[in-house]
Amino acid sequence: MPSPAKLILILFALTISTITSHPIIAQSPAPVYVTLWFDTEDYVLPQSDDAVKRLAEILTRLGVKATFKVVGEKARTLEQRGRKDVITALKKHEIGYHSNTHSQQPTIAVYLQHAGWEDGAAEFYRREVQGVRDIERIFGVTPTCYGQPGAAWASQTYPALKRMGIGMYLDESNHVGIDDQPFYFGQMLNVFKMRSTLTRMELKGGASLTEGKSKFQAAFDKLRAQGGGTISIVYHPCEWVHAEFWDGVNFKRGANPPRNEWKTPETRPVAETEKAFSDFEEYVKFIKAQPGARFVTASELMKLYADGATSHNFTSDEIAAIARSVQNEITFQKMNGFTLSAADSFSLLTEAFLSNEEKRPVRLNPIYGPARQFAPAAGGKPLTTVKPVEFQEAVLQVSQFCRAHGRMPDEIWIGARSISPQDYLATLGSVIEGRKSANAQMNDIQLRQGKFTADSYVAEDSTRLWSWVIFPEGFHAPKIMELARLQAWTLKPALLQQ
Ligand SMILES: [Zn+2]
Repeated sequence: MPSPAKLILILFALTISTITSHPIIAQSPAPVYVTLWFDTEDYVLPQSDDAVKRLAEILTRLGVKATFKVVGEKARTLEQRGRKDVITALKKHEIGYHSNTHSQQPTIAVYLQHAGWEDGAAEFYRREVQGVRDIERIFGVTPTCYGQPGAAWASQTYPALKRMGIGMYLDESNHVGIDDQPFYFGQMLNVFKMRSTLTRMELKGGASLTEGKSKFQAAFDKLRAQGGGTISIVYHPCEWVHAEFWDGVNFKRGANPPRNEWKTPETRPVAETEKAFSDFEEYVKFIKAQPGARFVTASELMKLYADGATSHNFTSDEIAAIARSVQNEITFQKMNGFTLSAADSFSLLTEAFLSNEEKRPVRLNPIYGPARQFAPAAGGKPLTTVKPVEFQEAVLQVSQFCRAHGRMPDEIWIGARSISPQDYLATLGSVIEGRKSANAQMNDIQLRQGKFTADSYVAEDSTRLWSWVIFPEGFHAPKIMELARLQAWTLKPALLQQ
């Protein structure tokens, strides 16, 4: 029999343990969103159609909604082969887009390698829109997201995708990204360059399942420790049935055989395929059982990571804070509950300067970055000061340019001379900050030098960045990466909405 003092201690300990184990008091785990996506692209090997159907049905049975990014030619092939059963199985999931013909030459980065911003977007639209229209006809929905074939990424795709009605970029490559988590770029949510939070179980049997689980666990634990986030899992349905990719056997290193010479790849032994399906089912069940893990599709991610800046009313205090920040460094920044890209700051300060009424809140008009690198105008001396009336006119022209072109200007004209977008923005910041002082309207404006740094998140061009086996040997695309650095004006982290 314990002493009364000991009894009190035991009772106390019991009470504490009851309180801490109570579900209402226990802290709920940080949410980890898992997006499972399938690049549904093989229109050569007929067995891959059955793999698509079986995966879609397994996931439906497990109550998991995945995102199938379908190639236009794959959708048309399913229709031609009379595979209504596959189309019906896929319709239970979310449909994305994965280009019109995927690996047929020239691939996207190849045909855009010399293109500029506007002409590149127009050319991508012209070549790729048919696949979207066919998916709409065959599946009855507009694809929610897009991701490039192989490493064929280019920033000009973003405005064209928007025009096609597609709202999100879902893929993996190393061209641009922020800290292995979702971000905004090109006015779109991107789940891209996820690296440490991109995972998958291999389909090789043996230790694949055990290793796949522990790889998932590592990414999951990392995100839980940092308060939640997103894990990206990628597959191709054809991997279950082929011994080699359908495009590698036909379009490797720039090869472009006519359709009647296309070869079908070797298939895997049936036992291997069966093991891959059963491992996959266990893998999905394992993920589903993790506390706080939730499978989400592309359109769910768009809601979870909605851009709060676009619906925010910016107060004069917030404008003043942005005006101070751009004089120091021009990059993305975190505000209270949302983020701003450098282009957002450019647009906001331009409109705030023109709105005059200091108390009226300013709304964000999102814009793309410039289309080419700044080059000083020929002739004359570089500007150091500007008259207030000239500056007022320049800001008005910038505002009108942004509205007319939906993007930032490449240069800002002050009479016959021009300044770069970053110098304009730093100067505008100092003018807005100094606007309250009595002499502000009278004195000449000192031009400031802006320091644009967001482009450090964009990869350098190299043959390694473009190491997709379908590209011609030695392919690389410096112009595409130059445009990407200009679009880094639109880069900012995506925040989970609370
Ligand atoms: Zn692909």
